[in-house]
Amino acid sequence: MSQALVLAVDVGGTNIRAAIINASGTILDEKRIQADLSQQDISEHEILSILSQFLLDILQTSEAIQAIGIGFPGFFMQDSGVIAASPNLPKLIHFPLAEKLTHMLGIPVKAQNDALCAAIGEHRFGAGQGKSSLLHITLGTGIGGGLILNHTPYTGETGMAMEFGHICVDYHPNARRCGCGNDGCVEAYASATSIADRYAEKTHIHCNTQEIFQSAMDGEIHAIEILAESGTYLGKAIAEAIKLLDIHTVTISGGVVGAWQFLYPHMLTSLNQHLIPPLKEHIHILPSSLGDHAGILGAASIAFEGIN
Ligand SMILES: [Zn+2]
Repeated sequence: MSQALVLAVDVGGTNIRAAIINASGTILDEKRIQADLSQQDISEHEILSILSQFLLDILQTSEAIQAIGIGFPGFFMQDSGVIAASPNLPKLIHFPLAEKLTHMLGIPVKAQNDALCAAIGEHRFGAGQGKSSLLHITLGTGIGGGLILNHTPYTGETGMAMEFGHICVDYHPNARRCGCGNDGCVEAYASATSIADRYAEKTHIHCNTQEIFQSAMDGEIHAIEILAESGTYLGKAIAEAIKLLDIHTVTISGGVVGAWQFLYPHMLTSLNQHLIPPLKEHIHILPSSLGDHAGILGAASIAFEGIN
């Protein structure tokens, strides 16, 4: 009998990736489509239609695929596959995504929050392998968090645990406004979007984070300063999380990790500055060893759980 395979899916704001993966975490094939799921008025029906069409086409290419796992940007009710809410897709409320797709595709489907999937992937296959507990942070257009506690993904009571991006790191009256409506969230200082915004405010030059990283490499002082500040705020937020959790391994994935050499020294200094003495110097912050595959490998893990 051929080896069991799963189809792992990572749903982003502008594109959907899917990969056929075996039980060792090897990606055998990968496909992606452009799909603008960031429109506020997109309906449940439209989302199901886009996903099922894309996935059906791939399912038809391999009979060995036994289950599907999906990482989706939303709050999930524990491991039920039901989306409680999605910040960018307000029409999705108490939406049974996994159940609907299972019915439409005729194959078991599991779904979970995308940042938690990245934590699961990093814990099973990446830099967090072998650790009993892990805090994983995704640094992209927004900032997400996922927690593995005693080898078990932790969702919170209503799927909203580890909203790491909304830890407050700046209580000054002029603190930056976050997309969540509060002021001073770490997402307003260290996400790709906020790094680009802060750079534009300082220099009046609009460029993306890759260009800002390159400017820092070339020694441009504003780029270096902004990344240093981002690292400082990230370290402060990680310290707040560690004081609650006493977890010693933190992994970070996402596009902003490309600026690791500029972020990390400031992150570490700030982390140790804000920790309580017994924890100082005991926390390891590591870049993801999976590149941009942490989320998709986590989605594969939850799919395999469904068939084992
Ligand atoms: Zn916020």
